[in-house]
Order: sequence, then structure tokens, then C-alpha cells
Amino acid sequence: MKVKVNQDNCIGCGACEAICSEVFALNDDGLSTVITDNFENVDKDTIKEATEGCPTSAIEIEE
Ligand code: SF4
Repeated sequence: MKVKVNQDNCIGCGACEAICSEVFALNDDGLSTVITDNFENVDKDTIKEATEGCPTSAIEIEE
């Protein structure tokens, strides 16, 4: 699985971090960053929920 944030589209609302803080965190610029590349122990539905909840569709996931 791959998870990517397109920071050009991110508005730093923090929703993804609120939903799935194991994977997303806002960086010093206030933009979302993927903080892990190990998704083994992360609930995939939570990642999907964060992706679908992003108001600007900035998150992409590849199964
Ligand atoms: S939910 Fe989308 S717009 Fe909001 S911080 Fe996350 S990636 Fe950025």
C-alpha cells in the first residue's frame, strides 16, 4: 500500500491527522505529511476514511 499527500492541494485543515494520526501529521509549514511507510498495523478503513474526508482530495492511496 502507498499513501501520498499532494501538498499543492492540502489546505492544512488537519482532518486527516484527526482521523488517522498514525499516518498523517501536519508539518512545520502546516501541511499534511505521511509520517510512516509501514501500514501493516494501521486500520486500512481509517486511512480510507481520512482520504475520503479530505476536503480537497489531496490524499491518494494505492492498494
Ligand atoms: S484533510 Fe486534506 S486538506 Fe486537510 S490537512 Fe489532510 S491532506 Fe490537508
